[in-house]
Amino acid sequence: MIEISGLGKSFGSLEVLRDVDLQVERGEVVCVIGPSGSGKSTLLRCVNLLEEPTAGKVVVDGTELTDPDTDLDGARRHVGMVFQQFNLFSHLHVLDNLTIAQRKVLGRDKKTAEKIARENLERVGLAEKADAMPAQLSGGQQQRVAIARALSMNPKVMLFDEPTSALDPELVGDVLGVMRQLADEGMTMLVVTHEMQFAREVADRVLFMDGGGIIEQGPPAEVIGNPKEERTRTFLARVL
Ligand code: ADP
Ligand code: MG
Repeated sequence: MIEISGLGKSFGSLEVLRDVDLQVERGEVVCVIGPSGSGKSTLLRCVNLLEEPTAGKVVVDGTELTDPDTDLDGARRHVGMVFQQFNLFSHLHVLDNLTIAQRKVLGRDKKTAEKIARENLERVGLAEKADAMPAQLSGGQQQRVAIARALSMNPKVMLFDEPTSALDPELVGDVLGVMRQLADEGMTMLVVTHEMQFAREVADRVLFMDGGGIIEQGPPAEVIGNPKEERTRTFLARVL
């Protein structure tokens, strides 16, 4: 579903990603862990070309996004992204948050968009919040709305960048629960997270990144449970 090869990204003279190769299979859940500044967010943002790579290739479901001839807006529709900050439209009701891109980007009519929006609110356990304003919701509920909004675009892949890092601890579980359910439904997911328990239980594969590269990867029981690399051990000792 995702094929990244030789990916490099520099900001001026700062090399943030170097020669990253990564393949994510359809239905696979890959969790990315690593210290702050190691390039995790940049890697995620390169998957839908929110950042333009300085080297390498990014292919999503057979479409090369790094090909200058590719219709990027078209290709990006297939990639849902959820950020640490929920980025809801604060002046719009929840339902409108979920329908606006469906209508403007996918050209769905109002009725269809609202039906799909309500189905996805149901999916994240917030069917009764359709008419609320974002500010009336808890952080955890806002993040679940953000997930429902991404799902309403019928993505083939979901990218999550520390989706629970801005939440009060008691709200983290509901969001992780929704993500776990998505994983069970077979969604292809690339998840940057510090939630090691989630990574252990839900990930098919864990990547440890440091210094702009993938240092170690494998099943969670190996990478988190029994890491080979010293740098992975040092990182885990700090976060576990
Ligand atoms: P992580 O998500 O692992 O914390 P990031 O991918 O956000 O790491 O950042 C990796 C490095 O790239 C950091 O040194 C960061 O300061 C730098 N960086 C990220 N985005 C930009 C940008 N737009 N301009 C300049 N430097 C950036
Ligand atoms: Mg980051």
